[in-house]
Parts: sequence; structure tokens; C-alpha cells
Amino acid sequence: MAHQLPRDLTRPVHIGSVQIGGGAPVVVQSMTCTDTHDADATLAQVRALADAGCDIVRVTVPDEAALKSFGRVCAESPVPIVADIHFDYRLAIGAVRAGASKLRINPGNIGSWDKVDAVIDAAGEAGAAIRIGVNAGSLERDIAEREDLSQPEKLVASSLRFVEHFEGRGFTNIVLSAKAHSVLTTIDTYRALSRELPQVPLHLGVTEAGTVRQGTIKSSVGLGILLAEGIGDTLRVSLTADPVEEPPVAWGILECLGIRRRGPELVSCPTCGRTQVDLIPIAQEVERRLQTVTKPISVAVMGCVVNGPGEASDADVGVACGRGTALLFRHGEVIRKIAEEDIVDALMEEIEQL
Ligand code: SF4
Repeated sequence: MAHQLPRDLTRPVHIGSVQIGGGAPVVVQSMTCTDTHDADATLAQVRALADAGCDIVRVTVPDEAALKSFGRVCAESPVPIVADIHFDYRLAIGAVRAGASKLRINPGNIGSWDKVDAVIDAAGEAGAAIRIGVNAGSLERDIAEREDLSQPEKLVASSLRFVEHFEGRGFTNIVLSAKAHSVLTTIDTYRALSRELPQVPLHLGVTEAGTVRQGTIKSSVGLGILLAEGIGDTLRVSLTADPVEEPPVAWGILECLGIRRRGPELVSCPTCGRTQVDLIPIAQEVERRLQTVTKPISVAVMGCVVNGPGEASDADVGVACGRGTALLFRHGEVIRKIAEEDIVDALMEEIEQL
């Protein structure tokens, strides 16, 4: 019998048309960075994020005036919208009434249990889910000050307190995140959450992960280890960059682990003293053009005849290069010999015909 992964055991939570948990495909999400008062700009970014592979998109609702444009974003978005709320429980209630499919709140900064309960009741009435977003930087004081607990233990203690409260009130439409900027804290925390709360779908993320290079490394290591263990039902890769840079990294992590595939896999060699074509710009151009291809195929760009023919013939389409030329392969067969300057176009033509 197949080993049952932790993510198969979590409760299904519905965010509009998208399911998180309950063994559903791991959901990719990101967040807009536009001014929410500007509905056109926010909608444009939501659409760009959906095109880049986001299943759901989070939008901040900073004040009462933003609720109107937020409502328009929810109505016209191609994907379900999550409202990001801090401090003001009335904004959370307003956001679900305006069409949010899910709220992201940190119950610890909402002010009181009565206010949290008002948010829970409004979400329940609207059929919206809630992500309980615990963060290492904003733990409740009584937990933050405990010297007997490690940072992961503090994050877990805070999470348990909130989940018990929500479930005790009969509200189980919850997703949980407990974020830190340390990769090791993230791993320890989510492993413990998966053990302690196996029923609750987990939203994975390394917060404040940094710029594209550092954030990609931290997210790939931290989230990759957890996902490989079956932990995590949805993820956001946080980068100090244009948010459309985030979903490709999330998809890359899922694809590397064989969890979900969205587009082609590019196999390319690192080049070496045997390479007799200018391979790096060729591989970069192939990668660029593959961004618009959604077929789940493999494409090989190999520099010579040592490993090239093997990798190129294992791929759906590939080239193994020689001196200023390349052999073009499709499904293991040599199709023809091509000149170096025709490699990218020839590969793309073959891909179109697959
Ligand atoms: S495939 Fe050939 S050119 Fe590329 S790294 Fe290997 S030996 Fe070098």
C-alpha cells in the first residue's frame, strides 16, 4: 500500500473554486504589491500573477476606503482572492462581505477574542475560509517572553492556541501558517505543526526570504524539505522583487519534487572544455521561450557528444551539439543535423508539433 503523506490527511478547505488540503494538488499563491485603492492596477497584477501560475492571490486591505476597490478586484479576478488584514477586525468583516474567498489574519493582533469571534462568524456566514497567520516577529507577549521555549516551540504554542479557539467555536475552515525568516526554524516549526495538528492544512512560506537569489535558495531548501516529507498544502515564495517572479520559483520547487508540473523541464549541461558552440545564450533563449509553453515536456540542450546524445534522446526534444552544429532529437530519434544559429528555432518548431 502506498505510504500516506501528511498532506493526504489534512481537512479540505475551499477557497472559492480552489481546494487547499485533503490531498488536493499543492496550491501556489502570491500577493499583490499595488495600492489596493487602485482597482485597475491591482486587477492587472492579479491577472499577471494568475498567468504566472498563481491559483489564488492575496490582496491587502489597509483601510475602509480600500474595501470598495477590493470588492471590484474580487468580482473581476480570474482566481479567488484572499484579503490580508491586520489589526482592524471591521476590515476583515468588510472584506468577506466584499467578496474575499479567504481572510489572512493574525488573531494575536486583532485586539480581543470577541473581535476574533466576530470575524469568525462573518467568515462563516459568507462561506469564506480563514488563514491563521502566525509570525515569529509578532508573537503574543506571554509566549514571546517564555524563556523555556525555543522559537519553533513558541510558534507552535501560538498556533495551537489559535487553532483550538477556532475549532472550539466550530469553525474548521482554516489554513495555518507559522512563518519565520530562518529556514531551520521554518522546518522545525512545520514538522511539529504537522504532528500536532495533522487535520489542519498548512500554508508554507519562509518570510522575508530576501531578493530573488537568496529568497529562491531559502525557499527551495526550506519549503522543498517540508514538501518532500509530504508537509504543506499551499505555498508562497516571498521575494523582494516583482511578485510575478514568485510563482515560477514555487512551481520550480513543486516540479523538482514531482508534486505538480505546469510546463516544460529544461535539461541543459553546465558546458566545459568540450563545448564547441556558444551554449549558454542558446540555453537561456530556450528557457525564455519555454516560459509561454505549458506542455509538460522535457527539453534537452547539451553541449557535446559525450553525454549529449543520451540526454537529448531521453528528452521529448533535444539537441546534442558538435562544432558549430547540433543533432536534433525527438523522442529518442535523430531528426536532422542543424547549424548552431538555427538551434533555438528548430527546437521550438519541434516543440510546437508535439
Ligand atoms: S555535455 Fe559535453 S559539453 Fe556539456 S558539460 Fe558534459 S561533457 Fe561538457
